[in-house]
Amino acid sequence: MHEIETRQAIVDAMQRLEALGFNRGTAGNVSCRIAGGMLVTPTGGNSTNVDVNQIVHMSNDHRVVGSGFPSSEWHMHAAILAALPSVCAVIHTHADACVALSCLRQDLPAFHYTVAAFGGDNVRCSRYATFGTMALAAAAVEALEGRTACLLANHGMIAVGPTLAAAMNNTIRLETLARQYLLARQAGEPALLPPDEMARIRERYLTYGKGLLKP
Ligand code: 13P
Ligand code: ZN
Repeated sequence: MHEIETRQAIVDAMQRLEALGFNRGTAGNVSCRIAGGMLVTPTGGNSTNVDVNQIVHMSNDHRVVGSGFPSSEWHMHAAILAALPSVCAVIHTHADACVALSCLRQDLPAFHYTVAAFGGDNVRCSRYATFGTMALAAAAVEALEGRTACLLANHGMIAVGPTLAAAMNNTIRLETLARQYLLARQAGEPALLPPDEMARIRERYLTYGKGLLKP
C-alpha cells in the first residue's frame, strides 16, 4: 500500500469507529506501520476535523516527519509496533462495554468460544497508568502478550492486527463480547469454557473465515 492509501485507510477507520459508536468526541486513535515508522492519528482528531493531510508520520526514532501533532498515545502505538513485529495496525477506542469492564479491572474470561480468536483463554485487562504515558505503553505491551487485544484499566481497549481490517474485526469482536459478558453477568455467573476446549477452538480458528476474512 502507498502511504497516501494508508492515510486514507486510517481516516476511513476513524469514521467507521465513530459510526459504530465506539469513539465519540475525540476519544481513540489509530496507527499503521509504514517503512521506517508509523502513521498515526493527530491528537484531538476525529472524523470532523481530520483528513489525510493531518495524519502524522513518525519515524522509528520517534520524530515527526513533516508536520503535525501526533496522538497523545503515540508512545503506546510506537511501543506496540516495536514489540510485535507481526502487527501492522493498532486501534484504540473508548467503546462503552470495554470501558465498563476495564473499570472493574477484570480480564474478559473464556465465557464464549470467540474469546479464543484473540489468541488465548482470555483478554487481559492491563494495569492502570495515566493516559499518554510511557507507563501506559508498557502496560499495554504487557497485556497484549500472546493476544490480539487487551483492555486498558479505567480507560478502554486496544486491538491489533497484521492489517487495519484485521484490527477493526478484533475491535468489533471485543466490544461485542464485552457487552455480552456484562449482559450475562447481570443474569448470573457465566459458565467458563475449560482450557482444553479453548485450545480446540483456537485450532479451528486457524482455518475459520479463510477466503473471505483478510488475515
Ligand atoms: P488523542 O486525541 O490524543 O489521540 O487521545 C485520545 C485518547 O483516547 C487518549 O487516550
Ligand atoms: Zn484513550
